[in-house]
Amino acid sequence: MPQSTPASAPSGRAHALFDRFVQAQTCKETQQNFIELCRHLKVEPRDYKHFYSKLKDRLNYWKAKDLWQKIDKRAAHPDYEQGQACHQHKCLVLGAGPCGLRTAIELALLGAQVVVLDKRVSFMRNNVLHLWLYTIRDLLNLGAKKFYGRFCSGSIHHISIRQLQLILLKLALILGVEVHTGVTFEGLLEPAGGSTGWRAQVSPGSHTAAAFEFDVFISAGGGRYVPDGFKIKELRGKLAIGITANFVNRHTKQEAQVQEISGVARIYNQKFFQELQSEIGVDLENIVYYKDDTHYFVMTAKKGSLLKKGVIKQDFPDVNQLLAPANVNQEALQEYAYDAADFSTDHMLPDLEFAKNHAGRPDVAMFDFTCMHRAENASLVKERKGKRLLVALVGDSLVEPFWPLGTGIARGFLAAFDTAWMVRNWGKGVLPLELLAERESMYQLLSQTTPENTSKNYASYSIDPSTRYPNVSLSCIKPTQVKRLYDIEDCK
Ligand code: FAD
Repeated sequence: MPQSTPASAPSGRAHALFDRFVQAQTCKETQQNFIELCRHLKVEPRDYKHFYSKLKDRLNYWKAKDLWQKIDKRAAHPDYEQGQACHQHKCLVLGAGPCGLRTAIELALLGAQVVVLDKRVSFMRNNVLHLWLYTIRDLLNLGAKKFYGRFCSGSIHHISIRQLQLILLKLALILGVEVHTGVTFEGLLEPAGGSTGWRAQVSPGSHTAAAFEFDVFISAGGGRYVPDGFKIKELRGKLAIGITANFVNRHTKQEAQVQEISGVARIYNQKFFQELQSEIGVDLENIVYYKDDTHYFVMTAKKGSLLKKGVIKQDFPDVNQLLAPANVNQEALQEYAYDAADFSTDHMLPDLEFAKNHAGRPDVAMFDFTCMHRAENASLVKERKGKRLLVALVGDSLVEPFWPLGTGIARGFLAAFDTAWMVRNWGKGVLPLELLAERESMYQLLSQTTPENTSKNYASYSIDPSTRYPNVSLSCIKPTQVKRLYDIEDCK
């Protein structure tokens, strides 16, 4: 990262503001404390090239030192070329979910100007994500424990979606990423000619993000969000109805003693599932229980038992009709999830009380996993009026994960790194077809990745795909095979 000159002396106020920023427990609090800290230290967040080094210089605080060390170590990786690899590039990231933010961090380390937009103003998802070992190492190396002391302190590795977003938001801000919440992305605006570049149509239209011109667009808008130009494959399996439920964790000794369930599938524990069905009429394919900020359960339930228990009111062959809100009895759903949670933890969790969701209601929900979406391609290049735009998908908008398997973050972060590698090559001037062919070669691997077939040398993981995928061939797809992904106006 470029160095700045040391400036004004630190103060107790600055330390207090930094502590508040680090400890902030909501998106809004994080943003407000960050703005106050920047104002107090007289560092301008929009000066993205020097922001981190100025912040570090001006906040001479022992409590921040270990975080700076970690960030410096990461930033010193040769892949980033000291923040010069993409220093002339501007990236718009749609979505401040975990994958959008993780990608934004990598792009900032590459030296790009990065703007993230999210239509939501708060991080409210209690649901808990399973973490593969490499993601734990990745987050620890970025100082996750500084922001969330309980990070991965239990026997099974997981984190709530909102805590992960908070950690990544704080890191992104420290690295000079601009994050705008309450701004909806509505589409891409082509260069109008002359000197204007690619822009985004946003709501509210008067937002400053509407004027941002960029040459890289990362779509991390979550499941089912697909930008123009991408095709989606539907993977239709047998009916799979997922239920998630969160209960208040009071962090008592009694709660601490209850065993987590890392995922039991029916075929591995027939007895348990038969008892569950015969004793309380709950018929499941699998169940996972994680003790996190909440007691979190995710399970796949059989339709027959949901109908019998009155959770689903009427049977329909079409899954959308079957799970339509009007066809679901919420009280019966709560009872069903409660019984499953209570039984599977051997009635050991005292006073089970539902945590509240974003709407202030009991946090229990039903989801359809029958039809999973996967983008046919991971990236494309558009060219209008001589201006090129690299467009890439990451996270759930690239491949929707099946939650009980817990692959969302692991594969989401792999795609974030692969995408950052592609942007690095974009910065190096690699030609569009070569760039796209390499990205598509990597993408072919993604859905098959497991903890077993990815490299175990987590310490060497970087955005370079060869550090993560053993024996990867980056040229199995040839430039001639991806011509349709290079969309040039004049060729139409
Ligand atoms: P997300 O986390 O979905 O983030 C996408 C972001 O894009 C959101 O913040 C959204 O507000 C924003 N966005 C979308 N469209 C626009 C737009 N037009 N303009 C601006 N912003 C936009 N996974 C599990 O493993 N277990 C679970 O129990 C589980 N529960 C989930 C519950 C819900 C309600 C959702 C939506 C997802 C859940 N997931 C779960 C999936 C998990 O959250 C993702 O795999 C993980 O968060 C990585 O996703 P992502 O960053 O790609 O997208």
